[in-house]
Amino acid sequence: MKTRFNGPFVIPVRDIARRAGEMREHEISVDLKERWGEGIVSVAVGSEVFVDVRLESVHEGILATGTVEATYEGECGRCLTEISEPVEVEFQELFAYPSEEATDFEVQDDHVDLETLVREAIVMSLPFQPVCRPDCPGLDLETGERLTEEKGADAAAPIDPRWSALQQITDQGSTAERRAPENTEGS
Ligand SMILES: [Zn+2]
Repeated sequence: MKTRFNGPFVIPVRDIARRAGEMREHEISVDLKERWGEGIVSVAVGSEVFVDVRLESVHEGILATGTVEATYEGECGRCLTEISEPVEVEFQELFAYPSEEATDFEVQDDHVDLETLVREAIVMSLPFQPVCRPDCPGLDLETGERLTEEKGADAAAPIDPRWSALQQITDQGSTAERRAPENTEGS
């Protein structure tokens, strides 16, 4: 009976194993069965992951070199907008033939399982502080509204606090842009 390969990222290497110099290229596409990543952004269940890998038979085992592509989803860390961004990561790892020495990755029963390798490559590349765009101005601290670019630029250049108080007075009744809450009059 044939061995059943478990896992979507398993690739048979029977035809190149123990034949140094042989090489095969594989492209695989996988719909994820579990979420990758635990942070603000992650790769969702059901999203597609592409792996383009070259497997080279070398003396010690099978050298896997390639790229993995996925799309992460989550929220902008500044303005909470939903974001979805592609990510592409290169990887290279030796899958050693089983021996006395412990290794992170091994050739098992004439196949290699790329899952841990490509998942870690993607998860390590996910941003800790994801943003919808590099210059996202974030939320207005007073109103909680999303800042437009103009307001963002405004907020980036804080006014001297004494002058700010004076401006609140002069702003009242004027048509000037109003960012302060309306009930500041009695305070
Ligand atoms: Zn944003």
